[in-house]
Amino acid sequence: MALWLRDEVGEGGTFSKARLREAIRGAEQVDRRMRDLRPAGWVIKTYRDKPSLQPDQLYLEAIGLPVWEPEHRAAGLRQISAKTRRFVYERDGHMCRRCGHAAGEEYVDDPGVRVRLTLGHVNPHRSGSSAEAGDLITECARCNETVRHLTGVQMSKGQVWDRVAELPKRNKQDLLDWMRADRRPLGTTEQVWALYRQLPAAIRDELRRDLEELMGS
Ligand SMILES: [Zn+2]
Repeated sequence: MALWLRDEVGEGGTFSKARLREAIRGAEQVDRRMRDLRPAGWVIKTYRDKPSLQPDQLYLEAIGLPVWEPEHRAAGLRQISAKTRRFVYERDGHMCRRCGHAAGEEYVDDPGVRVRLTLGHVNPHRSGSSAEAGDLITECARCNETVRHLTGVQMSKGQVWDRVAELPKRNKQDLLDWMRADRRPLGTTEQVWALYRQLPAAIRDELRRDLEELMGS
């Protein structure tokens, strides 16, 4: 939507909601989407702010940050309500859905660095700056920071392939499913683990002891 506004309307241009809906196929709640652009510095005025406009006209007073670019995507995220934020974290089991690390854990490949969770978009290019739970995904700060990710130490294709080849067949199939989905869906054990982690420490101890007893260890 931001791109359409920039390219088709331009700063100082007017447009109608009907035209916007027509241009952005499948865009629900255009009002909300326009509001989502505000924290990124976009200014859109209605006839209430600007008497020279017709009731169905909108005025693009200022073009803000290029929210379609990865480094500015977060600008639109400030609008996400605390309720939605909590909902997404809980739905995703308080784990990064890209790399599978949980909040507070240390990275397997980067010991000493603790995982901090944030929200990102499932499909950064399609979801734009949406603040809807369905477009959001829990990510760790490392996966979220594309730039840092790209400048970090990268293994070669051959090095990674060697590790892939070592995996048992069942795990290869899991990996292939994750590659196709471009994220790691939570398995049953991980879902239970996420539920366990949300319990108070004393209850976690009790549960651990119960399971130890059950397993005879
Ligand atoms: Zn991650």
